[in-house]
Amino acid sequence: MRSTLLQRGLAITTSLIALTFPISFIEGKSALAQISENRIESAETQLLRSRNRHLYAQAKAELPAEFYAFYRIVDRITRANELDVPYWRIRSSNNVIGAYAHGAYSLSINTDLLALMEGNVSAVAYIIAHEMAHHVSGHTVQYAKFQQDLSEEISTAIGESRDLVEIMEEIARASSNFQDRFQAFRQHLEIEADEVALKYMARAGFNPEGAVQVFAVYRDIYGINEEMEARLEKIKSLPSLLSLADQGRKRIATTAPMSYELSESGNSLRIMRESIDYAAILEDMFDR
Ligand SMILES: [Zn+2]
Repeated sequence: MRSTLLQRGLAITTSLIALTFPISFIEGKSALAQISENRIESAETQLLRSRNRHLYAQAKAELPAEFYAFYRIVDRITRANELDVPYWRIRSSNNVIGAYAHGAYSLSINTDLLALMEGNVSAVAYIIAHEMAHHVSGHTVQYAKFQQDLSEEISTAIGESRDLVEIMEEIARASSNFQDRFQAFRQHLEIEADEVALKYMARAGFNPEGAVQVFAVYRDIYGINEEMEARLEKIKSLPSLLSLADQGRKRIATTAPMSYELSESGNSLRIMRESIDYAAILEDMFDR
């Protein structure tokens, strides 16, 4: 609803300028057209900026502090990278220290991570960007398919075995083979998600080096882990991405903030471009 009003506001601003400078639209590239275009842009930007301030102040007042931080980070990353997803669902979790992507555009994050990152907002942004990257890169689907294929492969192999000893041998062989392949597949997805996440962060104005602190914290908690060391090496070897910040800044300046909806239980937050008013749609369709 709000964005419809906003669009209407922009349309009015644009047509007012068109009336004031009718020639500029005929001449195309004249100096007058340039002035007019600049005015349209700045009117849009101003309108958006005031909407942003209003919505962020409202969110800060309404949301628990950790959800406000998650909302601002997800909103920036989505807009700076033009991510086309229907919504994001953030769940706060108290289980293991870490975050993971699951279901449809859902990500769970242990809220203690905020305290562990000691105020380094770029480190928190990396944790979130990495899980967003898993979703946008289709990893949750690839993961499910990989498991399905492998379990079919194992049952085919067992089906061909003739006696119990052969079946047991087949299971043992398949499971060690499964573990190696699973590990390699997992590491491939993690490295891919890291690479995408660092670009997301840079466009959204966060420092990609925030990732390094996250690995340091995980190392303190979980000890040295081969996969994590490989990922960290890869992250450190990537070229600087800071030049992407300009592109993201422009996109953020010309788009409206996303909306948010806190669940009744208070432990899950949905962030979306626009809420869909099903009540209004049904009322339009059926008047009785
Ligand atoms: Zn991951």
